[in-house]
Amino acid sequence: MRPGEKLALGYAYGASLLAYMVDGAPRPFSATWAVTNRCNLRCGYCNCPFIDPSHLDLSRTALLLDRLRAMGVRRLGLAGGEPLLRQDIGEIVGMAKDRGFWVSINSNLTLYDRHPERLHLADLVYTSLDGDEAAHEAARGTGSWAGVLAGIADLVRLGKPVIAICVVTEHSLDQAGAILRRAEAMGFRVHFQPRCTETEIVRGRAPATLTNAALRDFWRHLLGEKRRGRPIASSTAFLEFLAGWDDFAVSAVEVPGRRCAAGRGFFYVDPLGRAYPCAYTKGKMPSVDLLAADWRTAWDGATPCNRCIVGPMLEFNLLYWRPLAAAVASARSYG
Ligand code: SF4
Ligand code: SF4
Repeated sequence: MRPGEKLALGYAYGASLLAYMVDGAPRPFSATWAVTNRCNLRCGYCNCPFIDPSHLDLSRTALLLDRLRAMGVRRLGLAGGEPLLRQDIGEIVGMAKDRGFWVSINSNLTLYDRHPERLHLADLVYTSLDGDEAAHEAARGTGSWAGVLAGIADLVRLGKPVIAICVVTEHSLDQAGAILRRAEAMGFRVHFQPRCTETEIVRGRAPATLTNAALRDFWRHLLGEKRRGRPIASSTAFLEFLAGWDDFAVSAVEVPGRRCAAGRGFFYVDPLGRAYPCAYTKGKMPSVDLLAADWRTAWDGATPCNRCIVGPMLEFNLLYWRPLAAAVASARSYG
């Protein structure tokens, strides 16, 4: 990341945090934009490939990026679906970089070798790794393993930071050791993520044999591995929170007197430019069309929950709940 971008990102986060602390107007510093719902894979826990396949063209993409920048967003996560299914994804990354965003991109990397250059302008690449070949394909389907390790190796060789996301399921529960050994050998880091339930972009459920006690043990074990210096991108606070979660069949709850920073500090944008506080709230509340309205004034400030273990949202929330520790950890892990 260029020094100017780092400063702009820090300033945007600081302004966003201040607005959150004084309960002022929303001031998101980060947006996650799903550039498409389409995907070449059919992972057992993901519903994205089964929902609306339409997306914004490049001229409306330019308008969306201009609007995000004008409202103070400096961190842009490009997600999907599979972004590499868009022939113009390289141009989208370039447009975002031209506007001064810090850009991460999530890709399953199975299509990476066709056009590796399309990811090269991104500041960080997230990919997926649910274990060894058998575990990965059990969770993500036949063909999901092909090209992933070669793609990671190429990105690492180019000096690109890579974080592999492991979704914790019955297939990956005993795979953390193998994934971390591979990460150490190849030079990438791993973010572990609970399986999310009850929202439009996910499907399926964990089997009853995967108990809450076993899952809490898993997160406690990871906490120990993190403290031993293993290449775990997930923050200590994130792992502690998960080690204490009561019921993993429930991803989000409403706790009286607590606030969530979704919508205030970060938000989610779907492939047509419609925004929600976070990906989990898509389909649970009205959206704001960012091509026609400003999130800061059009959103009513409501979220359906205020504590969750959903995807990266917990890491984002920790930036607001425990700002100092989380910002230092985040700068180390993601900066
Ligand atoms: S999790 Fe990612 S790779 Fe798997 S189906 Fe969903 S979008 Fe595609
Ligand atoms: S607690 Fe906040 S971030 Fe989590 S799912 Fe609910 S609205 Fe989204």
